[in-house]
Amino acid sequence: MSAYTNRKIILQRRPQGEIRDGDLVLTEAPVRELRDGEVLIRTLWLSLDPYMRPRMNDAKGYMDPIGIGEVIVGESVGRVIESKSPNYAEGDLVTCYSGWQEYCIIPGDAPMVYKIQPRGIPLQAYLGVAGMPGRTGYCGLVYVGKPKAGETVVVSAASGPVGTVVGQTAKQLGCRVVGVAGGEEKCRFVVEELGFDACVDYKAGNLEANLAAACPNGIDVYFENVGGDVSRAVARLLNPGSRVPICGYVSAYNAEDASKVETPFHIFGKLENPPEHRFFLVTEWQDQHQEITALLAEQVASGNIKYRETVAEGLDNAIEAFKGMLKGRNFGKQLVHIAD
Ligand code: NDP
Repeated sequence: MSAYTNRKIILQRRPQGEIRDGDLVLTEAPVRELRDGEVLIRTLWLSLDPYMRPRMNDAKGYMDPIGIGEVIVGESVGRVIESKSPNYAEGDLVTCYSGWQEYCIIPGDAPMVYKIQPRGIPLQAYLGVAGMPGRTGYCGLVYVGKPKAGETVVVSAASGPVGTVVGQTAKQLGCRVVGVAGGEEKCRFVVEELGFDACVDYKAGNLEANLAAACPNGIDVYFENVGGDVSRAVARLLNPGSRVPICGYVSAYNAEDASKVETPFHIFGKLENPPEHRFFLVTEWQDQHQEITALLAEQVASGNIKYRETVAEGLDNAIEAFKGMLKGRNFGKQLVHIAD
């Protein structure tokens, strides 16, 4: 055994609806010795992302469900603390899919592990606007949404890391950009700090009327992050030729029976003139990982992409932080700080 003790959060029982006490459990185990070719990584920052909730269900989506007793999946920024691989040296900083744990052992040739090139931005930004959510927003908007200057782009979950990048990128492309977010404070941030043209608070009532007022020329691109009432309000305002990249629909992630959910595919597919719409996965552009990460990191460093983050301290607080994120209690990227 090595000198380290690992703390990890495992799936003890599949949640039915919202996560309850005992569904996810924090456990401890010694870290074993490294074998030849392996690398030991200390987690510094853990990313909490909405996609983790559907993966706790016993339903095959675009990825396999997490098994009972397995560590909850997740990406982190970590430091190599021991290496028996020629590919990594002690002290290297990486992003990797460690899961919700303080240490992880990976093969030195594991896929989806990237060394972080220092670009003068905070390390944890590589889990947010300069990381997977940022690439999701950028690629989904540019390659699926295909916005043109002068068009109106609407994005939901506008203050989160995906929405933040979608909106600021669309502004740079010359679009009118309207966010949808929960609460006055988030909407004010989206307009005043991020520079969107308007932001509609879907929790304030009058969603349809307020969205129509913010989009006097209709909607050309709707970047779908939430589903539900927001999608239904958007559907009435879509222009002919509009595009809807379906990134996710977080309003349904805690549903007790996913088969009863009216998804964005139902909402947009049944329209008389449906928009061009499809689900996409950020990994469609995995071959551009390094290039787009560099592009976003430079935009963060230059101040062209602004963002907020919410930090939970320590793995002990990860479960509550995750439950809160699915209800919008996060303001910007939700992270867990594990170590320096
Ligand atoms: P966020 O940090 O924006 O967190 C989720 C947000 O969803 C909450 O803060 C909340 O914001 C909003 N929300 C929660 N419940 C509801 C509801 N009932 N109605 C409307 N909004 C709600 O998340 P991310 O930026 O990380 O992710 C955004 C979306 O992108 C998610 O759907 C996620 O699954 C998807 N995604 C997809 C990927 C892909 O490859 N397809 C990759 C990465 C992310 P508010 O307070 O404003 O309501």
